[in-house]
Amino acid sequence: MDTDAEEIKKRLAQAEQELQQMREGLALMGVKRCENCKRFYRSADAAALFDDGTEVVCYVCIHEWWPRRGGELEAKDRETTEHKLMRWLVAHHNAQLIPPSHKLPDEQAQEFRLAAECDQCEGTGTLLGGHCRYCGGAGTMWVVIPKSQAQ
Ligand SMILES: [Zn+2]
Ligand SMILES: [Zn+2]
Repeated sequence: MDTDAEEIKKRLAQAEQELQQMREGLALMGVKRCENCKRFYRSADAAALFDDGTEVVCYVCIHEWWPRRGGELEAKDRETTEHKLMRWLVAHHNAQLIPPSHKLPDEQAQEFRLAAECDQCEGTGTLLGGHCRYCGGAGTMWVVIPKSQAQ
């Protein structure tokens, strides 16, 4: 009986080792995995994956991942990551930064949106002694990702 348990343990250890080797192999091939949906993406595709330094997440998962991830981070780290995420969305997904006082595009024209701290005034609403002209003094911005025409 004990030998059966031993045998199972041995096989599990082998399977675990094989999985680990497979992961290493995929990393060598330039493939990374989204922490959220576990799908694989090519790491060379800068628009597919966002790397916050600890977690890697795919574009599809951003809008459900960020509220959770943002809540886990310390305020200071959250700020840094949020700004990084904003810049990434602007650079790779045509995100628009819209002050809260401005009209947002139609819901149908939005893929999704996130509220973020204004990175110009760092959430204070003040810049160079006056109202921050980027966020209109609100300290926050809408990061709106327009629906892509291709879909
Ligand atoms: Zn994903
Ligand atoms: Zn601002």
